[in-house]
Amino acid sequence: MQLLDGKKAGQAIRDEIRLQVAQRLAEGKKQPHLAAILIGHNGASATYVGAKVKACEEAGIHSTLLHYESDLPEHELLEKIESLNNDTEVDGILVQLPLPKQIRETAVIHAIDPKKDVDGFHPVNQGLLMQGQPGFIPATPYGIILLLKQYGVETAGKEAVVIGRSNIVGRPMSVLLSQPGETGNCTVTLCHSKTKNLAEHIRRADIVVAALGQPEFVKADMIKPGSIVIDVGITRVENPSKKSGFELKGDVDFSSVAPLCSWITPVPGGVGPMTIAALLQNTLQACLQKDL
Ligand code: NDP
Repeated sequence: MQLLDGKKAGQAIRDEIRLQVAQRLAEGKKQPHLAAILIGHNGASATYVGAKVKACEEAGIHSTLLHYESDLPEHELLEKIESLNNDTEVDGILVQLPLPKQIRETAVIHAIDPKKDVDGFHPVNQGLLMQGQPGFIPATPYGIILLLKQYGVETAGKEAVVIGRSNIVGRPMSVLLSQPGETGNCTVTLCHSKTKNLAEHIRRADIVVAALGQPEFVKADMIKPGSIVIDVGITRVENPSKKSGFELKGDVDFSSVAPLCSWITPVPGGVGPMTIAALLQNTLQACLQKDL
């Protein structure tokens, strides 16, 4: 078994971005700028946004964190997004999900200028992805693709099973794995909560991407020996012995599954850091596009 170390691979990408940004600045060009919006006081969301902002700073990307109370009216958020869309200093905009119930996720996603949609959730970018054209790819699936590339993992001709069909992880992942080209060319099955005989599908797979949000759902008896396992899940599970009172669990039962795999991502330290690296890559890209 070999580890797909997202921390290491993500750092290599971030170092490369830092060099590119430094080069830009030395040439007198604009510093990339990410505006991140956080609403409310969800601990996990605050942690994720904090990690993204910190990663920006380390890479030389300017970041602005806008933090609002959880009773923020939808129209005020949409107005803020509109002003960021019109702000030529801002290259990328992200709104941390989930949102409070008075704010419609779709309205927010649709409000972001597709050219600044560094999370890749806007229908324009998702449409471009479907057609295999350049656009912003959602950060988590993009990060997984970068991780597979970084480790030179062969995907062509393999049976891939993606568990979870969300617009931000599972569905775009299934599209990317099925596309022609490096890290694609798989035969993909997209599974969800209504899939019958899920374990049988997983057992057939050469590549399993688990993105369902059910801690340790994928067990050793579902895995074909030699398969590649990508664990996207992050769930906070109570653990009083930890200082924080919780621990992070993936969707894969790592200790029993890992010995069977050819490659596997750990949780934490797998897909999470790659999501951040991909977000920075998208932000740099958004800035570079303005030079054209
Ligand atoms: P969603 O809740 O939006 O989607 C979950 C998907 O899993 C749905 O399609 C659902 O099916 C399916 N599902 C749920 N339970 C089962 C089951 N028992 N059997 C089969 N399918 C099931 O989650 P996300 O896609 O947003 O996230 C998935 C996980 O990935 C979460 O743990 C999240 O925290 C994590 N995540 C991690 C990131 C990272 O950077 N590492 C980034 C983003 C997410 P149905 O559609 O039928 O309801």
